[in-house]
Amino acid sequence: MNKDEWGLTGTVAAALGGERAAALTALAGRVAELRDMSEDAATTDVLLAPLHGRAAQRWKRTAQADERWVHLGSGDGTSVLAVDEASDAGLREPAAAVVYPELHMRVVSWWLVHAWRGADLLDDTLESLNRWRITSGAVTARAVIEEAGSLVDEANALAQAWRTGKAAAVDDDDVKRPVLVRAALDPVLPKAALGSRMSGSHDKLRATNVLTLLKKLTKATGEARFPEWYDLLSDAAHPAFGARIALATPPLVHPSTAVAVRTYARAPMALDDGRSRRPLEPTVALAVADAVIAAGTHLLDVLDDGLAAVDDFGLTTAAATLTRRTYWRDFQPVRGSRACPCGRGKGSACGHRWGRETPSRALLTASQPAVSSASRSRAAGSRTVAGRSRSLLLSRRPGAARLHDAARSPDRRVRCGPARAVAEGWAGRRPTTRGSACDQPPGEPAERRHRTRGVGEGLRRGLP
Ligand SMILES: [Zn+2]
Repeated sequence: MNKDEWGLTGTVAAALGGERAAALTALAGRVAELRDMSEDAATTDVLLAPLHGRAAQRWKRTAQADERWVHLGSGDGTSVLAVDEASDAGLREPAAAVVYPELHMRVVSWWLVHAWRGADLLDDTLESLNRWRITSGAVTARAVIEEAGSLVDEANALAQAWRTGKAAAVDDDDVKRPVLVRAALDPVLPKAALGSRMSGSHDKLRATNVLTLLKKLTKATGEARFPEWYDLLSDAAHPAFGARIALATPPLVHPSTAVAVRTYARAPMALDDGRSRRPLEPTVALAVADAVIAAGTHLLDVLDDGLAAVDDFGLTTAAATLTRRTYWRDFQPVRGSRACPCGRGKGSACGHRWGRETPSRALLTASQPAVSSASRSRAAGSRTVAGRSRSLLLSRRPGAARLHDAARSPDRRVRCGPARAVAEGWAGRRPTTRGSACDQPPGEPAERRHRTRGVGEGLRRGLP
C-alpha cells in the first residue's frame, strides 16, 4: 500500500463518517511507513541450548578452532553455553559474545515478526473496509485486536526485563554482567517466541489466552470498548449472527413491532426519502473501523517503543560487534556527536549506556496507556476520534430515522416509495450500481411507518 495513493472511496468515507475516514487515512499512512522500513528486512537468529554432561563433552570434542567458539560455564559447573562465529572482539569478551548476540538476534526477530504480522493485518483490514468486504474486515480486525494484545503483553515483559538487566548490570564485570542480563531476558523470550496453545505444547510455553490479552489491551489503552468490539467482530468472523448482518441495514421496525424489515446489499446503504439520503449505520463495518483505529494505533505505538528498546539493547551491549553473523539492526555503536545508527539522535545523547534508563518507559507503566511521548499526541487524536465515534454509535436509538416523518413530505419518487433503504454505488467496485433510488426495487408502502432499530436492540428483543 502506498500511503500517497491510499484513500477511502467517497461512498465508504461517507458511510463511516468523516472522523473515522480521517483516522483510517492517518493509520494507513503509518502502516505504509512501517512497511517501508520493514518490508525488505531479513534476519537470522540463533538459539543456544545449555549443554550438560555428555553433551558438553561431545561439544568439546567436535568444536573446531576455525569455527571460533566462545563459551560460558554455569556457576555450579554443571553446564556450558557455547556459540560459534565469534568476532575478534567476541573472542576477547567470551561471556558477552555468548550472551548478547543471541539475545539481540532473538529480540530483533521477535520484533520483525510482530511488525510484519501487524502490517499485513492492518493493511488487509483497511483494504477490506475500502472494498466493503465487511466479513473479511471483521476477521482481520479481530486479529488486529489479538495481535495488539499479544504485542502489549510481550513488549511489556521484554521491556521490563531489559530495564532490570540494564540497571542491575551497571557495576559488574565482564562475566557477571552478561550473566545478569541473560537471567533477566532469557525467561521471557521463549514464551514470546514459542508460546502455543496447540495440543501437545509444553506447559511452560502455553500462549496466553486471547481473552487475557484482550483484558491487557483494554487496561493498557484505557479503551473500555475493546471487549464490545471483540464480541461483535468474533460473531461476524464466525458463521453467526454478526456475519449475517454484516451487509444488512439495521431492522426497520413498525411501531407495533409486528414487522421488521432489513435490506441487504454489497455496498453501504442510505435512507432515501426522495429529497435526501443519509447513511444507514453499517454496524459491523463501524466496529471494524473503530477497532482497527484503536488497536492499530496502539499496536504501531508499541512497535515504535519496542524497536527503540531492541536498538537500545543492541547498542548498549554492542552485541553486533561480538559476532561475525549478520542480522537486521546489527548496528555498531558510535560515540560523541555522530548520528546514532538507531536514528533517534546523536550517539552521545541516545542513552545506550549501562545504568541509563531504557527508552520505552511508556511500555512499563502497564496501568497507563502505553504510548511513547512522541506518539502520545497521535494517541490523543485517536481517543478523540474514538470518543466521537461513540456518540455516533449511541445515536443508533429507535426513531433516529423515522420513515413516517419522511413519508409526510411530497413524494417525488412515486415508483420507488417515499423512503427506504437503498444501496450506494461506488466507483471503486461496481460503477453500474451508481444511480438513483429508482434503480432499486420498489419499496413497501408499509415501511413508511417503520423506524430504524439498532442491531443490539433487535438482538435483545429477539427480532430477526
Ligand atoms: Zn541511538
